[in-house]
Amino acid sequence: MIDKQGRNIEYLRISLTDVCNLRCVYCMPKDKITFMDKEKILQDDEVIKLVKLMAKCGIKKVRLTGGEPLTRKNILKIIEDIHRVPGIEEIYITTNALLLEGKEREFKEAGLKGVNISLDTLKEATYRDITRGGDLKIVLRVIDNLLDLGIKVKVNSVIIAGINEDEILNLAALTINKKMDVRFIELMPIGAAKDLTPITNNKVKEIIKQGHVLEDEKIIGISGPAKYTQIKNALGKVGFISAISDNFCESCNRIRVTSEGFLKQCLHWNYGIDLKTLIRNGMNDEELLEIIKDKIYNKPIKHSFGKEEKDKDNRFMNEIGG
Ligand code: SAM
Ligand code: SF4
Repeated sequence: MIDKQGRNIEYLRISLTDVCNLRCVYCMPKDKITFMDKEKILQDDEVIKLVKLMAKCGIKKVRLTGGEPLTRKNILKIIEDIHRVPGIEEIYITTNALLLEGKEREFKEAGLKGVNISLDTLKEATYRDITRGGDLKIVLRVIDNLLDLGIKVKVNSVIIAGINEDEILNLAALTINKKMDVRFIELMPIGAAKDLTPITNNKVKEIIKQGHVLEDEKIIGISGPAKYTQIKNALGKVGFISAISDNFCESCNRIRVTSEGFLKQCLHWNYGIDLKTLIRNGMNDEELLEIIKDKIYNKPIKHSFGKEEKDKDNRFMNEIGG
């Protein structure tokens, strides 16, 4: 549906859990983590109920995220059920990929169209450091398996000063021989990332140009918040999601539901509504639908990252659902 700013909101990101098998330095604290009680998390039937209501509001595309969505026991069944919801045309997941190995075909058969994989380096030791323990070899195998099955793959890379800026060229080069996209996501000052130093995407672009010829040196496409270009003769594209340096809120097409069932109108702000409690208190579908439509219609105009604002969301990224 169209919101008050005239934006077409057709994309829902829904977090299935705050639990993760990794502890990436920009996303989660190293220790002292308490995950949410199971009963606070949206149950499978509640997830499907919300997707059905959202579809009635014009949502066509659903992405399952987290925490790590693959740690959710019934994720395959959830995908199958979402796949059957009238109006939902595409289902994606965002994952670190480690728990996907060997299950790629099952996910395709369940209706999964594409996978975004977080990968910030091609060096095994750096990967272990950033993720605090992950095995890069598994991720690379999963990427190849997904591509062999014809599942769309996009790599999400967050570049942090002093940690992986020397990996920008290697990451971009993944697109040369594989038909997949690599997107550089600017570090957002959320949760664990507040003490890290971001690298702007303009700088990332400059570094790519030092090692590769970018097709016509111009942007060849825009899709949602990502702007895409291409290394000359490469099979895949290179994308830039520049939430900080190039505010893309005017083309925002999404809403989020956290694993606790809170409808978030914008990644930055704490505005929204606790849909889970409304469902558990027995609110009927017509009333829920009206509330959801109202929240979508009234999405904030834009984020205000970097400024201390009293209404900003102070949760960690794994809790919100990145
Ligand atoms: N565990 C899954 C994964 O890593 O893909 C899904 C959840 S993760 C929170 C989703 C995305 O958020 C990842 O691509 C990750 O790189 C990104 N992310 C996490 N913290 C971030 C931050 N502070 N700034 C920018 N992106 C962040
Ligand atoms: Fe886990 Fe994804 Fe956060 Fe890394 S970015 S800690 S894989 S939720």
